[in-house]
Amino acid sequence: MGLTMIQTRTMVVPPAKASELADATRLPGRSDMTGCPWHDVKSMLRQVGLRPTRQRMALGWILFGKGDRHLTAEALYEEATRAKVAVSLATIYNTLHQFTEVGLLRQVAVDGSKAYFDTNATAHHHFFVEGEDILLDIPGAEVVVGKTPTPPDGYEIARVDVVIRLRQKA
Ligand SMILES: [Zn+2]
Repeated sequence: MGLTMIQTRTMVVPPAKASELADATRLPGRSDMTGCPWHDVKSMLRQVGLRPTRQRMALGWILFGKGDRHLTAEALYEEATRAKVAVSLATIYNTLHQFTEVGLLRQVAVDGSKAYFDTNATAHHHFFVEGEDILLDIPGAEVVVGKTPTPPDGYEIARVDVVIRLRQKA
């Protein structure tokens, strides 16, 4: 839809509760979690209507088995390769986008060339460390989004994502 701005894209949902952010081990859609990552990934996929194929299972397990984190498609590809999961980068991209579409992941676009996928799909904002290319969560209560602009006719604000860029002090 092309309504993105450089640093503040899409728009409003209340900030995630600190307790949600702190609970780093939960998986999305967690009504029948057993603590067994393999079983949990399977039921997580089923709950969002995705067939638990071997590749989705393996990638879901790598993605969600380590708590909340942000990673690029390339980083996931490296992890999958190290874990001896045979997938192409194209499959990684497809899977990440499928997971994002069903709400298991949130995509955070930092600039045109770099998309991070966040395993914490609840609303929260980010610091981006320039030069190191690291994305960090900002605790939910710490960003105050001011008056939001009036969207054009026919649109409503879906979400506000704030990315605050950091650099080392001189
Ligand atoms: Zn995040």
